[in-house]
Amino acid sequence: MREFELIREFFQREQADLLLEDKAQASVILGIGDDCALLQIPANQQLATSVDTLVADVHFPADAKPEDIAERALRTNLSDLAAMGAEPLWFTLALTLPKSSNYVSEEWLRGFSRGLFRAANKYEIVLVGGDTTSGPLSITIQVMGAVESHHAMRRDGASIGDFVCVTNSLGDGAAALAVMQNRLALNADHEHYLRERFYRPTPRLIESGLLKGIASAALDISDGLVADLNHICEASDLGAVIDVENLPLSPALLAVGDLQQARTWALSGGDDYELCFTVSPEKMPELAMLIAQEKINATVVGEIVAGVGVQCELEGEAYELTAQGYQHF
Ligand code: ADP
Ligand code: MG
Repeated sequence: MREFELIREFFQREQADLLLEDKAQASVILGIGDDCALLQIPANQQLATSVDTLVADVHFPADAKPEDIAERALRTNLSDLAAMGAEPLWFTLALTLPKSSNYVSEEWLRGFSRGLFRAANKYEIVLVGGDTTSGPLSITIQVMGAVESHHAMRRDGASIGDFVCVTNSLGDGAAALAVMQNRLALNADHEHYLRERFYRPTPRLIESGLLKGIASAALDISDGLVADLNHICEASDLGAVIDVENLPLSPALLAVGDLQQARTWALSGGDDYELCFTVSPEKMPELAMLIAQEKINATVVGEIVAGVGVQCELEGEAYELTAQGYQHF
């Protein structure tokens, strides 16, 4: 199949089925097919944009299901928009496909396209362009979103005394990887839950919309809580203490039956895509209200302090972390 047919077949035509027409009509002046897309940012909003590349056998097993690869690629990018408090609008897709291989075929592309548009539909984001090349399998997605001018949740807003909070539970991404690599076996329900968490992480867009007026700083956790909270600390010129006993752990993670392992995954495993955010004591009642109303699932796991770096404590005693967050280099 030629490049143009491929684009038309798997990335342009599919989009016609989208339920996104209103959104697309309002903001996409010109989509796929010309030299550039022409996009209209809503009035009084700023463009938030982020790009990520997923390389086969580094970020996902090359023989993973194409639906799963595509969903994960788009969802993890959407998590970056959530981390800023931005609403998803558009994305571009740069695909590098092996010329001849036994796993990238038309059937593979059909699956990839199905997974991609399933996630795009769910989170109302429109594909507006891309690039298609040949080489080792890799997927680059650039997401674009809009946030009210000067209301983005940045990393540099934390103050001494702010509470450090996280959404939902941590450590599932690392546990999922252990299951997929046959280093961990749990019952079928827990294993299914973990695989879903890995391939279909939920970008915390609803939470981020609610937190925008409340959080002083925020980011999404992709490299582990300690490593990512450290980014907030560096940007804000402060330190943080994490109370290890307060880390929220899922039933699947507790079923591992090794609390220390579970906590290590929660602290330094990657791939959770939950939000880590800070909240001042004055704003805390607003967060407590959202939690009580079950509009958001969040837990206080620590505090911003003077100093540098992230320290962990268990019941007030220093807690040594055995492994650092994932590092590529
Ligand atoms: P150019 O040579 O001008 O860069 P291309 O041949 O790369 O144009 O792309 C033609 C059109 O198809 C462009 O609008 C581009 O954005 C779009 N496109 C290319 N690859 C993809 C893809 N994988 N997904 C979506 N759109 C794509
Ligand atoms: Mg091109």
